[in-house]
Amino acid sequence: MKTIGLIGGMSWESTVLYYKIINETVKARLGGLHSAKIILYSVEFDEIEQCQSSGDWGKSGNILGRAAQGLEAAGADFLLICTNTMHKVAPQVASMIHIPIVHIADATADELERCRVRKVGLLGTKYTMTQDFYKQRLIDRGIDVVIPDEAGIDLVNSVIFHELCVGEIKDASREQFRRMIGRLRDEGAEGVILGCTEIGLLIHQEDSPLPVFDTTLIHAARAAGMALDG
Ligand code: GLU
Repeated sequence: MKTIGLIGGMSWESTVLYYKIINETVKARLGGLHSAKIILYSVEFDEIEQCQSSGDWGKSGNILGRAAQGLEAAGADFLLICTNTMHKVAPQVASMIHIPIVHIADATADELERCRVRKVGLLGTKYTMTQDFYKQRLIDRGIDVVIPDEAGIDLVNSVIFHELCVGEIKDASREQFRRMIGRLRDEGAEGVILGCTEIGLLIHQEDSPLPVFDTTLIHAARAAGMALDG
């Protein structure tokens, strides 16, 4: 079994899910007392968020790159960055190590292709929804991406940082997300990417008028599969 390196803590509320999903997947495959080999480097999210909001992506990339070097030195065979947003600095992190990074958007695109989804709604932080680093990887695979309007972008971003990342799960926000997903469906989306690793804490399939593609679940399950099958 290969050893999985996780760069987590962005936020720790979702890193908990990675740990659980990876171990549950290994248990489902191997049974008994089997569990995953995981090394976790959990960063201080406040530091990372300050880099995001000040636009200092180079500094945050360096923090994550050093974490990645620590995981590589500790014996990780491959790495996951446990957040969609911070994949903005995935190329910088990759340039600092010799082991592969499993890109969350590529794993998600694979799943969309498997389900034959050609047009998809994307919910995530304002960085993930409005910038190219994530969407372009989907577009390059021939998948159309639709995002909420400006008010919707602000709402989703605010719920992520002020509620989900601090462990607050509110029915009122779930209802607002449900309506927003309905609008993405009206624009032709055939599925919706929960493109922030905390959104799965709020939205489950039964809350959504569209099939959900939960990036935390997809990314963590891919890691478990890679650890077992190479
Ligand atoms: N976990 C989130 C994501 O998947 C947001 C936190 C962050 O800004 O990294 O994008």
